[in-house]
Amino acid sequence: MKFGVALVLAFSFFTAALHAEKISLVGGTVINPADGKVLPNATIVIDGEKIERVAMGRQEAATLGKQISCVGKFILPGYIDTHVHFFQSGDLFTRPDGADLNSVRPYKDEVAWIKSQLNDVFARYLRCGITSVVDVGGPFWNFEVREKANATAKAPRVAVAGPLISSVSREKLDLGDPPIVKIDTPDQAREFVRKLAKQKPDLVKIWYIVDKDHPVESFRPIVRATIEESHAHGIRVAVHATELETARAAVEEGADVLVHSVTDKPVDEAFVKLLKDRHVILCPTLVVFERYGRTFSHQLNLTPEEEKWGNPEVIASLDVTKIPQDKLPKRIKDAMGDPKTVLDRIKKTYDVALPNLKKLEDAGVTIAAGTDAGNIGTIHGPALFREFQLMKEAGLTPMQILQCATANAAKLFGGDTGAHIGKIENGYFADLVVLNSDPSNDIGKASDIDSVIKGGVVYPAASILP
Ligand SMILES: [Zn+2]
Repeated sequence: MKFGVALVLAFSFFTAALHAEKISLVGGTVINPADGKVLPNATIVIDGEKIERVAMGRQEAATLGKQISCVGKFILPGYIDTHVHFFQSGDLFTRPDGADLNSVRPYKDEVAWIKSQLNDVFARYLRCGITSVVDVGGPFWNFEVREKANATAKAPRVAVAGPLISSVSREKLDLGDPPIVKIDTPDQAREFVRKLAKQKPDLVKIWYIVDKDHPVESFRPIVRATIEESHAHGIRVAVHATELETARAAVEEGADVLVHSVTDKPVDEAFVKLLKDRHVILCPTLVVFERYGRTFSHQLNLTPEEEKWGNPEVIASLDVTKIPQDKLPKRIKDAMGDPKTVLDRIKKTYDVALPNLKKLEDAGVTIAAGTDAGNIGTIHGPALFREFQLMKEAGLTPMQILQCATANAAKLFGGDTGAHIGKIENGYFADLVVLNSDPSNDIGKASDIDSVIKGGVVYPAASILP
């Protein structure tokens, strides 16, 4: 009996602690990357889950609720990763279509584990100051992930796409609810979009894979039908298209979002103009381009943030030398045998992708930060800080990078939520990251996190992970 009372008390304390109240962050420097404005000695008044007002100088104490001193701190809108996949863990076993390790860990066990770890993944995003994410494609159970996240306090806000509409199939990922669905005709595409629409996806995703058996033009009618049907339902379309001509075709057909960089050729003026004219948002996902190769060739370059805040089981799995020789797929064996070729290939990709990013940013195309986290070696949560490093290498300023990860990313998130995140303004969600040092001159400081606020609830950074 005694135990029961204690439990009830503990529970009510817990819920009270999580309930948003009126609070004010006093005396910090507020950075709004949307317009680059920096307000020193500002006060952010938060009422419930929303920002009531942002004010300068001394305020009437009676109007502030509980005051939290932020003197010496830097306050930003919470970061947004606009390209993640919750159906993938980031570990070595998460893409058997790319590296089949079923004999070491059956894929169905991997997926069961992923489903059991969602709260852990959500918390890792929050630990990194990431208060919203966009899952750009996965099985139909993705929609349950969105529901779960949106009902969980210690989780980012989640927008999702359902299964990817593709020119190719991936049987090894099909356990009955495949993340990738091969579509062969425009009619099939329309029918599938209608099925998706019932789940109210935030985006429809097309996996526009081009190779010698699947030229750009052969899949184009399916891209067109998918986009027409999605737009008829008021749903935007995001396209994976990493070659210049594939990306151009996708945008000509009406794509709203390109979910990766163009990596095969320098973008040309006509392409840049097309993206601008059509208001297309591009998400570069630079980090994922190095992580398959680096993992497989045993050259993984995880950042300190990833080592500290990534899931330790995921990180431990990435050591390919721990897999028995006879169970290594050829792709990994080859990479281990010749890491130089792998690293050269990664460099070649960046030699194209980084200047492309700089050119698009300079031209005023909307760039939204995103990682493709969940893919092998791309760690849910802290991968965003490696993405920031690579965006810096591309030549973007710290403020541009922060804008990509906040206000621009909110546009990709979309919907009513997207219209209330990514900025520190009256009426916006109180999703904030409080830093100990100033990221506006050094993007490396973006991970120097003191605390994270999601929906008006304050989480001291050190309290978030177990
Ligand atoms: Zn992806």
